[in-house]
Amino acid sequence: MKLETLAIHVGRAIDTATGAVAPSPILSTTFARDAHGDYPHGHIYSRSSNPGRAALETLLAALEQGAAAAAFSSGSAASLAVFQALSPGDHVIAPDDVYHGTRTQLRELLSRWGLTHSLVDLTDLGAVAAAVTSATRMIWAETPSNPLLKVSDIAGLAAIARSAGAALVVDSTFATPVIQQPLQLGADLVMHSTTKYLGGHSDVLGGAVIARDAGSALFTRIRDLQTKGGSVPSPFDCWLLQRSIATLPLRVRAQTANAQAIAEYLAAHPAVEVVHYPGLPSHAGHALARRQMPGGFGAMLSFQVRGGREAALAVAGKVAVFTRATSLGGIESLIEHRASVEGPHTTTPQNLLRMSVGLEHADDLIADLGQALRS
Ligand SMILES: *Cc1c(COP(=O)(O)O)cnc(C)c1O
Repeated sequence: MKLETLAIHVGRAIDTATGAVAPSPILSTTFARDAHGDYPHGHIYSRSSNPGRAALETLLAALEQGAAAAAFSSGSAASLAVFQALSPGDHVIAPDDVYHGTRTQLRELLSRWGLTHSLVDLTDLGAVAAAVTSATRMIWAETPSNPLLKVSDIAGLAAIARSAGAALVVDSTFATPVIQQPLQLGADLVMHSTTKYLGGHSDVLGGAVIARDAGSALFTRIRDLQTKGGSVPSPFDCWLLQRSIATLPLRVRAQTANAQAIAEYLAAHPAVEVVHYPGLPSHAGHALARRQMPGGFGAMLSFQVRGGREAALAVAGKVAVFTRATSLGGIESLIEHRASVEGPHTTTPQNLLRMSVGLEHADDLIADLGQALRS
């Protein structure tokens, strides 16, 4: 079945007790044994499993064409579990422009625990191969990347990982399963901050890890970290996510169309130095994105304003339809001066603004940017 159908029907069934068509969250933390001491419905205690979380995990696995999924209380909890499934002394290769929260986990939390890492330009497969050591057990990719929307070659990275005996993990948060399917290109795991497009309404925090092989040692340890570590999403959050995912394909396609229109408008604007969007032929990753992202180029883009940091901050200060806020993937368009958020160690250009394009009409978004760039 196609993604639109899966998004609505997987993990959803008419309730046999009541006939209810729409699912409801099951809040119970504990589940009854029968007279023989068995658990006829398969659930024991909600940290280990809950009906709503099981439904969400089945849905997430189907969307990514994976074998199994583990849902977490945030994207950060999901990435931490993936790294903690490795062992002290192991080595991870991650992008030099990796999401700053992931970088902080590697630098501050996991280095104290004995996990080593190298930050490499993942768009350069030669550099990735050269960074592999005898201790390398994981390549962590993020494509498109934040905030420059760099595109790295998932199949190429998978080949390097395979020959090194390492796992390839793709943080596919920016792309969603609507845009690209990393497991089909050889990735072992896909990670999502479901806080973003899968949640889609800026009102639920969550994360997920989806596995190509449900029985792999790596995913078994991740499942253990989920249920024994306990960073699981609440039944209500699982219910919100399932509700949102039903419209994910439609939302992402409409947001992508808006982003393409905005990227083309900005690319032709005299006050704009450069636009970073894989849907523009001028983007370094455009040809690769055409092959690797069959669902479109996504709804994230960034651009650099002529006149430096102050000019960029002035544009962000003048928008009225866009909201100045961090995060992404919601129905409302957001704009952000990334260097300010990332702090003193940032490598992000000071004149760069990142936007998450929402579901408003493209004409209104373009008019808003036009008036902000004019002044
Ligand atoms: C937001 C984000 C995360 C972290 O997810 P949280 O849900 O905020 O913990 C990880 N990776 C990417 C690409 C993100 O955008």
